[in-house]
Amino acid sequence: MYIILLGAPGAGKGTQAIMLAEKKKLVQVASGDLFRKALQQETELGKKAKVYMEKGHLVPDEITIQMVLERLAEPDCKNGAILDGFPRNLEQAKALDKALGQKSSAIDKVVYIKVSEGELLKRLGGRWICRKCQAPYHEVDSPPKVAGKCDRCGGELYQRADDNVETVKKRLEVYFAETSPLIDYYKRAKKLLEINGEGNTSEVNQRILNALR
Ligand code: ADP
Ligand code: ZN
Repeated sequence: MYIILLGAPGAGKGTQAIMLAEKKKLVQVASGDLFRKALQQETELGKKAKVYMEKGHLVPDEITIQMVLERLAEPDCKNGAILDGFPRNLEQAKALDKALGQKSSAIDKVVYIKVSEGELLKRLGGRWICRKCQAPYHEVDSPPKVAGKCDRCGGELYQRADDNVETVKKRLEVYFAETSPLIDYYKRAKKLLEINGEGNTSEVNQRILNALR
């Protein structure tokens, strides 16, 4: 089973991907996490991706597509995956369809998490993320029980370098120009589930589970 989580930066894809992966016993594959890991380990891939990520631009398709498809070919993805942050444009969506088609598989559902622009800006401003398990928190809306520490795994929380005002603006611009056309693409394929992404994380999770049922 392959499920895509679609939505703007700050829509809550990361949180929902983790919750959904646990419920459905599938792995979460987050392109942004894969890039950040490569960056941290200073691999060739990480060095290439860095310049784009810092500016809030998309990393070029040939790099991104190869990275994600390689990840999906690993043994823990043999039953499928929850995709978070990929695909992010039409080119990537088509490459994914083609790669799954070659395995006689396909995307099952695309969960589009819809959140207003004002709410997105607010959320990205106060975001903190766990270094170990990538769970996101928010200073005001969903603070951790102990400041600076992850509720799930005790890991240290940090703020992403690209969560500053300018880069956030650029990321939203890129989302509306390049990623939002995927809403129509998957609607036409009759795979789109539109979910109201406002409210607390368990409310949103319940909506997603109901829609997938
Ligand atoms: P968010 O969804 O909050 O913007 P991500 O962690 O998904 O954050 O992505 C962070 C950055 O990583 C993006 O701004 C982009 O530079 C790069 N990136 C992630 N996924 C992709 C992708 N599918 N295609 C191109 N670039 C990507
Ligand atoms: Zn954690």
